[in-house]
Amino acid sequence: AATYNYAEALQKSLYFYEAQQSGALPDWNRVSWRGDSALTDGADVGLDLTGGWYDAGDHVKFGFPMAFSATMLAWGAVEYRDGYAASGQLPYLLNNLRFVNDYFIKAHPSPNVLYGQVGKGDDDHKWWGPAEVLPMARPAYKIDASCGGADLAGETAAAMAASSMVFRPTDPAYADRLVSHARQLYTFADTVRRAYHECITDVTSFYRSWSGYQDELVWGAVWLYRATRDAAYLAKAESEYDRLGTEPQSTTRLYKWTVAWDNKQFGTYVLLANLTGRQKYVDDANRWLDYWTVGVNGEKVRTSPGGMAVLDTWGALRYAANTAFAALVYADRTTDTVRKTRYHDFAVKQINYALGDNPRQSSYLIGFGANSPRNPHHRTAHGSWWDSQTVPVQTRHVLYGALVGGPSAPNDAYTDSRGDYVMNEVATDYNAGFTSALVRLYSEYGGTALANFPQPEPPDIDELTVETTVMQNETRSTGIKAIVYNRSAFPARALKAATFRYYFRREGTSTIEVTSGYTQGCPAPSTARQVSGDLWYVEVNCSGYTIAPAGQSAHRMEVQFKIGVPEGGTWNSANDPSYQATAGPNVNVPLYEGGVRVWGAEP
Ligand code: BGC
Ligand code: CA
Repeated sequence: AATYNYAEALQKSLYFYEAQQSGALPDWNRVSWRGDSALTDGADVGLDLTGGWYDAGDHVKFGFPMAFSATMLAWGAVEYRDGYAASGQLPYLLNNLRFVNDYFIKAHPSPNVLYGQVGKGDDDHKWWGPAEVLPMARPAYKIDASCGGADLAGETAAAMAASSMVFRPTDPAYADRLVSHARQLYTFADTVRRAYHECITDVTSFYRSWSGYQDELVWGAVWLYRATRDAAYLAKAESEYDRLGTEPQSTTRLYKWTVAWDNKQFGTYVLLANLTGRQKYVDDANRWLDYWTVGVNGEKVRTSPGGMAVLDTWGALRYAANTAFAALVYADRTTDTVRKTRYHDFAVKQINYALGDNPRQSSYLIGFGANSPRNPHHRTAHGSWWDSQTVPVQTRHVLYGALVGGPSAPNDAYTDSRGDYVMNEVATDYNAGFTSALVRLYSEYGGTALANFPQPEPPDIDELTVETTVMQNETRSTGIKAIVYNRSAFPARALKAATFRYYFRREGTSTIEVTSGYTQGCPAPSTARQVSGDLWYVEVNCSGYTIAPAGQSAHRMEVQFKIGVPEGGTWNSANDPSYQATAGPNVNVPLYEGGVRVWGAEP
């Protein structure tokens, strides 16, 4: 059987969460091409809701999958902390888990209020550019006692309770703080018993919990029990369990799906079986995992010739990875030796498939292994300045450690296409169960994290330039069209106080005349200044105008002007330092931001 460097995969998988960071980046963020972004999130509701994770290839902060991802990551560390420590990845796991929990704390300003989304789905999705220059309003949405939602509050309670267990050994005060938020959120969920999309209607076409909130009531209670050892939470989990979903027209618990952002009941089968050993949980866990391996009553999850379990089209590898992780947690505890091997081997196969053990012999983890994807559906990694999925052609950044959706049917087929968000989007929830499975496989098979990872990425092009075109080359004047371009992505950054200078040499003592021509926004110059001797310049001052890699016209600023002398004066463009006969980038027209030179050279 194939084996992979699970420590390297784990290392990269955690790095992906740093690429998804919103708000002010912490000093430990390792992604050289990311910068601060969305620094006013929450301002519309008078709160600081900066931080947290962008959900996927977009920039909405969807609280529901964010909390689920945190729970799944924490679950892996609760079970396999030693693997994190031995692989050297524990500090990175703790960093990233704290970053998201800090956001949950901000999002929960009072017992019955939880902010569950920042950014409007459609407005966010219709724009294609980097996080650092988001142009749209980002409204904040909350749940409260007037309309719901037990699903969101229950999941966030689970996330904070599970995370508290991870922080308990190193920071008990923080763990206590997380537990107190989790208790309040759980009480709110248990009391309100309504769906969160009733409050946050914008989420309906994105992350509504179609399965309802009953699963989160069980899941939240189990995690609170594990975090607190308060028997009341176990009793609560067990009593709510009996109202979990069943297969149509039967009393058999659902088994043809899996633990994912919507429905966690499958995860509770495993958790409660492991915690209590009670037969009903064991039966539910066995039936569910048998469906994924050998089949139940002749029915089995669709499996490709290459061995990938394909539950659903969109983001199929994430379902396989989540199931693999839960299967490992269960296999590690069960006394049923046949199933122990069956579930373990299934899990190893699914994770290895994602890492390259498949008919295409290609990895689905970006920047890992052979022939990994280059064109994820991810706005900031692509680095468009044009608000376009096709400009530039090449993806500008390597989004190390992101698991793509992968094949969407049980046929092992895949296309590495940026526009395909079904096969080629990446998401915080895709990586979560996957990361936890990786730490488990590392513990069994080993591996070594890369010593020199990551390397900073140098810019692929000149990010900031001024291009000039000589519009008129006359006896007593030169007419110039100058365009400032901002194609920055390392990281993307807006110019807000740009100036640039066009240098020329005065002949004799002629009076210099400057006339303004067309400008896209910022004013054309009207006077020239002398540096010394015959060296002069005109300065274009775009302070107060934003030039950002945010769209076709947003990323450029055109200014036309003419410099010359009156009748009787002498003019010679040939000796002007900034004169460039051919149109194009002109390094002799230096560009400054806030007075600091960012492109070009002074004479
Ligand atoms: C976005 C994706 C999103 C999809 C479905 C697309 O426009 O680019 O990020 O997953 O819509 O909502
Ligand atoms: Ca649910």
